[in-house]
Amino acid sequence: MSTENKDYGFATRAIHKGVEGSAENNALVPPVYMTSTFTFDNAEQGAALFAGEEQGHFYTRISNPTLSLLEERIADLEGTEAAMATASGMGAITSTMWTLLAQGDEMIVDKTLYGCTFTFFSHGLTKFGVTIKHVDMRDPENVRAAITDKTKVIYFETPANPNMRLVDIAAVSAIAKEHDITTVVDNTYATPYLCQPISLGADVVVHSATKYLGGHGDLVAGMVAGSEELLTRIRLEGVKDMTGAVMAPLTAFQIMRGLKTLEIRMDRHCSSAEMIAQVLEDHAMIEKVYFPGLESYEQHELAKRQMLKPGGMIAFELRGGIESGIRFMNELKLIKRAVSLGDVDTLIQHPASMTHSTYTEEERLEHGISDGLVRLSIGLETPQDLIDDLIEALNTLEITNSPANAA
Ligand SMILES: *Cc1c(COP(=O)(O)O)cnc(C)c1O
Repeated sequence: MSTENKDYGFATRAIHKGVEGSAENNALVPPVYMTSTFTFDNAEQGAALFAGEEQGHFYTRISNPTLSLLEERIADLEGTEAAMATASGMGAITSTMWTLLAQGDEMIVDKTLYGCTFTFFSHGLTKFGVTIKHVDMRDPENVRAAITDKTKVIYFETPANPNMRLVDIAAVSAIAKEHDITTVVDNTYATPYLCQPISLGADVVVHSATKYLGGHGDLVAGMVAGSEELLTRIRLEGVKDMTGAVMAPLTAFQIMRGLKTLEIRMDRHCSSAEMIAQVLEDHAMIEKVYFPGLESYEQHELAKRQMLKPGGMIAFELRGGIESGIRFMNELKLIKRAVSLGDVDTLIQHPASMTHSTYTEEERLEHGISDGLVRLSIGLETPQDLIDDLIEALNTLEITNSPANAA
């Protein structure tokens, strides 16, 4: 953008940020640099690039112009200095942790985490001498109580996958700062449009860009964002030498196309989810709905303070537990049974047997992921069609499985 000082809005920056200087032949959309390597003018220049004495691209695992453009844009949208594009959300999380942690360190994490994140921490990092402490971060004082002089990182998701629990980013980050601890937030559910953790005091944001940032269910990717200093370390230690989890240039192009509609998509995801959460809450077959936009939601006030809108994800429990849940999912005609989220298509899944089956049964109970919980990612279809599909499936349960017939 030419007027760098001007305070452009989110959607404008999501479309334009960083484009200048990357366009060739007056192309509106910058070319995709489908190249693994970059030639040196001479041997001395190659040596200078490797030594970090000269800035420039020399190998795509370290940097590539298409990835740089996406990184500049995400850093801007997250309100921070730098970002790194990774091969997946797990690539972002593992590259960050291999950089920030060493043997003997402790990390404090929230009770509820995405299944593979939980397993990487509790069954992966622990093999290398890192201690993981799970605390219920709905009360920030639980974080303070778990801190020792070995604590290096505090990590959480907000809203958490799958049960929608929120963490007060400002409160937890403030406690972390007092002790010089790095706060890492998984911002996948909220996206930078609804919430910018770094402006609330966090140090690093990680994303599964597979979800809302890409937005169309056609790619797997991740992002990390934070200060120039931290991101240089994550790039050169974490990605370059430890995980190698770099994003493909074509994927970066797809995510930039997704970002152009992020704001307008999120507005629709949120407004449809608000309608649907209300309809679900009012239905006799529903035991409980977890959605930050509902008045009945226990952290509704925090949601209003920390998020622009309540998001497009809903979790709920049906009367009749897991059997009802399975029957209900199988009755749906329009809504697809699939993991992943944040797509234009509405997707439904059962965390205990799918995304969070990486937890043992005991761990799920301990971490607040009940067996009856169903997770719904609201897509961009006509909202009434989604409501009709859900109500028709719920009504079949009432006939066969209502409390009145259960005797
Ligand atoms: C999906 C997801 C991940 C993992 O991302 P991948 O792109 O599948 O590797 C991490 N965190 C959250 C909250 C997720 O939903």
